[in-house]
Amino acid sequence: MKTLVTGGLGFIGSETVVKLIEAGHEAVIVDNLSNSKLAVLDRIEGITNVRPRFYKIDLCNLDAITDVMEKERPEAVIHFAGLKAVGESVEKPLMYYHNNLLSTMNLLDAMRKFDCHNIVFSSSATVYGVPEHVPLVETDPVGHATNPYGETKVMIEHILMDVQKSWPELNVALLRYFNPIGGHPSGLLGEDPNGIPNNLMPYITQVAIGKRDHLRVWGNTYPTPDGTGIRDYIHVLDLAEGHVATLKKLAQNPGLVIYNLGTGKGTSVLEMVHAFEKATGVKIPYIIYPVRPGDVAENYANCDKAAKELGWKAKFDVVDACRDAYNFQKKNPNGIE
Ligand code: NAD
Ligand code: UDP
Repeated sequence: MKTLVTGGLGFIGSETVVKLIEAGHEAVIVDNLSNSKLAVLDRIEGITNVRPRFYKIDLCNLDAITDVMEKERPEAVIHFAGLKAVGESVEKPLMYYHNNLLSTMNLLDAMRKFDCHNIVFSSSATVYGVPEHVPLVETDPVGHATNPYGETKVMIEHILMDVQKSWPELNVALLRYFNPIGGHPSGLLGEDPNGIPNNLMPYITQVAIGKRDHLRVWGNTYPTPDGTGIRDYIHVLDLAEGHVATLKKLAQNPGLVIYNLGTGKGTSVLEMVHAFEKATGVKIPYIIYPVRPGDVAENYANCDKAAKELGWKAKFDVVDACRDAYNFQKKNPNGIE
């Protein structure tokens, strides 16, 4: 299936482009490079021997995305493009609402114009807000995200649902990712954050290569077995495969579908440290700090629906993901250059 991948040079988008090509799909990428590098395109080519067509455009520019849609006429869109830093979204909410909402509305406008009626959207576990129970299931309440970034995901889910109601031929998959980590086993693709990493895995890998002194563990007084926060870490390769499986589902014209993509297993911060040490043999010094405002104690997915309806399940565990994240970090100590 010819698929337009927005944000296709980013962390999850680039791995998904590789999986799409390997599964025999044609991928076309749009990205404004606001959080990615053009060199990722070379790396995708290095892995697959295919260089996808790439358009450096900003989705906030309606004419630009309309032109690409007219030229390419894709059958499906996977919409990864968006800003994703929680802390930055608290400081600059308008920037987040503007970028994430406008880009999605422009994309939908252009899709409608050229009758592209399949869209997969990168949503997030953050739409569930503070979980009342775990594991989270797709029918759990949505709508109390704890920050503007999360609110953009809630709002975009609503926009997509409303548009789907008014345009019943449109197939929409809302994929709620849990915590994607890891990288391509080649070491060519991985997570490449700007500045001090906010997320756990890239922080650990930077400690491992000596770029940071120690891991700051945000709190050990949660009501969890070792007191540290629990999350559902999913290898980005598994996540990428989940998108390929979702495209197959959309080809059956299901209308609106919603899936959690995680592993179904929670891992604490200290368990992650131990998994990393097991995978790499590198010791990770850590210091316990006060809890990070806005963090929840425990968050993991029930993924039965994706298993049943997509025939998809995560194959890798956190030790595999730690090994691949470290491999990427070692080969790219200063990120992708
Ligand atoms: P990323 O920042 O690596 O990739 C996003 C890409 O979108 C970047 O390459 C960026 O340059 C591009 N982009 C942003 N705004 C754009 C615009 N207006 N026009 C064109 N391109 C634009 O992020 P990622 O980790 O690969 O995440 C992909 C998607 O998955 C995002 O929507 C994110 O919110 C969502 N998500 C990510 C996580 C995570 O932990 N990484 C978890 C849940 C959901
Ligand atoms: N965490 C930590 N130190 C860090 C980064 C994260 O202890 O430097 C913890 C955080 O408190 C949470 C878990 O690791 O319990 C995952 O955090 P991340 O920011 O990666 O994901 P999110 O909180 O968005 O699920």
